[in-house]
Amino acid sequence: MSITTLPIAIQPVAKSRLPEVDVNNVPFGKVFSDHMFIADFDGQTWNDLRIVPYGDVPLSPATSSIHYGQSIFEGMKAYRSDSGDVLLFRPFDNQRRLNLSAERMAMPAVPESIFMDGLCELLRNDKNWIPSKEGSSLYIRPFHFATDDYLGVKASDHYKFMIITTPVGPYYSHPLKVLVEKSFFRAVPGGVGFVKASGNYGRSLYPTQLAKQKGYDQLIWTDGREHKYVEESGTMNLMFVIGDKLITPGLRDTILAGITRDSVLTLARDWGMTIEERPVEVREVVEALEKGTMQDAFGTGTAATIAHISHIGIDDIQYELPPVEKREFSNKVNFELDQIRRGRKEDKHGWVYRVS
Ligand SMILES: *Cc1c(COP(=O)(O)O)cnc(C)c1O
Repeated sequence: MSITTLPIAIQPVAKSRLPEVDVNNVPFGKVFSDHMFIADFDGQTWNDLRIVPYGDVPLSPATSSIHYGQSIFEGMKAYRSDSGDVLLFRPFDNQRRLNLSAERMAMPAVPESIFMDGLCELLRNDKNWIPSKEGSSLYIRPFHFATDDYLGVKASDHYKFMIITTPVGPYYSHPLKVLVEKSFFRAVPGGVGFVKASGNYGRSLYPTQLAKQKGYDQLIWTDGREHKYVEESGTMNLMFVIGDKLITPGLRDTILAGITRDSVLTLARDWGMTIEERPVEVREVVEALEKGTMQDAFGTGTAATIAHISHIGIDDIQYELPPVEKREFSNKVNFELDQIRRGRKEDKHGWVYRVS
């Protein structure tokens, strides 16, 4: 347990909205828990740590993050164990990654104690918002953005770090049809693809809309230089089982180092599976699809955990993958991860954090 360096002021809601909400049956990301956490950075230090009722935040029209994009976030989930404990999955990895993003975007780091204390205090207040249903959890969104009211282009002096939470069910209700994108790109070497910057999402929406018009759910992004290598799918890391090998693009600065990705690779390694983390050519994917050696393809991320890919489109050809019931690896790893996160299975890697 980290040592609290600053007190957190708590202003509870007068009346909880929980009685009006069925947390086990809500649309993704639209219903928020009673409270939120806020800390302010004044140019020197983080101050005024507080838990307040969820609600609007007053902002100047000149708020610099709106104009120049110093805005980053994280995504994680809280689960309720069968004995009623509140469990987090690898929260320190999210805290470290937030600060990696902060450094690249010239923003101040959020100390571990502020991140963890704010998060745990928020969950203690809103623990009844954690769904109990299988496949459901409380999605947690920590975010950090510049708040100077100044239109000059420079790193802001003032920032807000906030955490909001929302009960969620499964992110995708069906396996995905994905299109290999060969004209737009998500990230380039030297850019910000490896950090969770809001702008990475904004720029992805238009190409994704075009793919949706063609009947696809998501894109497979290829490298920004040659469109020769596959990198990620939508906002998930990408994995294939070709023959008996688990193959995934190796980490570089155009790829977000997903915590789910690392967890899946760690379990696969435990199970003695052959893993290849390396550049993966579009050509290799096509070959495996044509020869029928592609056993499994899926995206990994906190929101979806494992998102099965049912079809891959490349140019004008659409390939169909084996039915989801036959995907031995992705189904097994999905189940195993779920059991670990809910505290039902031995946590060999020290991933689960119990909120006291
Ligand atoms: C958040 C994110 C992921 C998944 O990361 P997790 O830590 O597994 O949730 C993958 N790719 C991109 C681009 C992301 O933003």
